[in-house]
Amino acid sequence: MTLQDVKRLFKQYTSREHSWLSVPITAATLLVLLVFVKSCQGIIYSHSNECRIYRLGYTIDEARALAAALSDEQADSLVARGEHDTIAYPIIGQRYFIAKNFDHYLALHKVDTAASLADIVAIVNVGDFPEGAIQAAHCDTSKGYLMLVNGQHFLDESYKPDSLVLFKKSYCYEEQKALSPVVEAFKAMQQECKKETDAQLMVNSAYRSYKQQITTHKNNNKRYVAQPGNSEHQTGLAIDVTSLQHPEKWAFDKSKEGVWMRENCHKYGFILRYPEKQSRILGYSYEPWHLRYVGKDVAKQIHDEDITFDEYYAYYLERQQAQ
Ligand SMILES: [Zn+2]
Repeated sequence: MTLQDVKRLFKQYTSREHSWLSVPITAATLLVLLVFVKSCQGIIYSHSNECRIYRLGYTIDEARALAAALSDEQADSLVARGEHDTIAYPIIGQRYFIAKNFDHYLALHKVDTAASLADIVAIVNVGDFPEGAIQAAHCDTSKGYLMLVNGQHFLDESYKPDSLVLFKKSYCYEEQKALSPVVEAFKAMQQECKKETDAQLMVNSAYRSYKQQITTHKNNNKRYVAQPGNSEHQTGLAIDVTSLQHPEKWAFDKSKEGVWMRENCHKYGFILRYPEKQSRILGYSYEPWHLRYVGKDVAKQIHDEDITFDEYYAYYLERQQAQ
């Protein structure tokens, strides 16, 4: 039957003498079209990430949320595993979830089933992947007060902060320098601490050049002293603090001025860089004396959210930059 024949027949049946046939023919045509469109939609949906994930055993709401949170590549790899993963859905609801780390979260859970989901997110976000830590990289000094220096982010031997200023002699045992806002913030904190606790905070160590760090690293407990290039002291933004009344670091930790400093330093723009809580999760050694200047707003946020600077950096600076 040619197209001409179809046209002729259609004309014949819809002509006046067969007009009673036009209604069922039109209805049937519409029905066929509807079935066709529906089946096309079905085929398209069955290839969607949502449907493919749903078929692994997730509920439709979970599948929808996972499909929305993951890239096509991640959805492909989740589907390729061919099984339901118990943490895939709850992990995307974690406060500091970063989409690009999804596969690492699942991999870490496989080898560390006892870790909470929040800990898994924290550990992976700071670059401690189950497949091995991220490669060491140059510190991004353009971040200014928010530059990140740690075991994986290093400063060159030649890096020296601009315009370091001296702390007042009465605040330190020997000459110490840091960036000007750090010196000012310490002065304000020191004065308030004196009023509140009657103790005098002292700067034990502040800026250390790469060369000085070589000596410090050689002469001290390696657990607490970073390798040259990996020390925050080279930024001019870090200070080690104890008090005249409790010059010994661990005695300071338990003293009333030590407790006061931990609770109040964020009001002056400082954070406790290696807090006790995170040392268990992130493998740092607790250092109640080491303060890092980040400015008041960020210090308050880190204090309020009870996270480390590394977690802050990964979630609020790097993630946003990548988006
Ligand atoms: Zn320190």
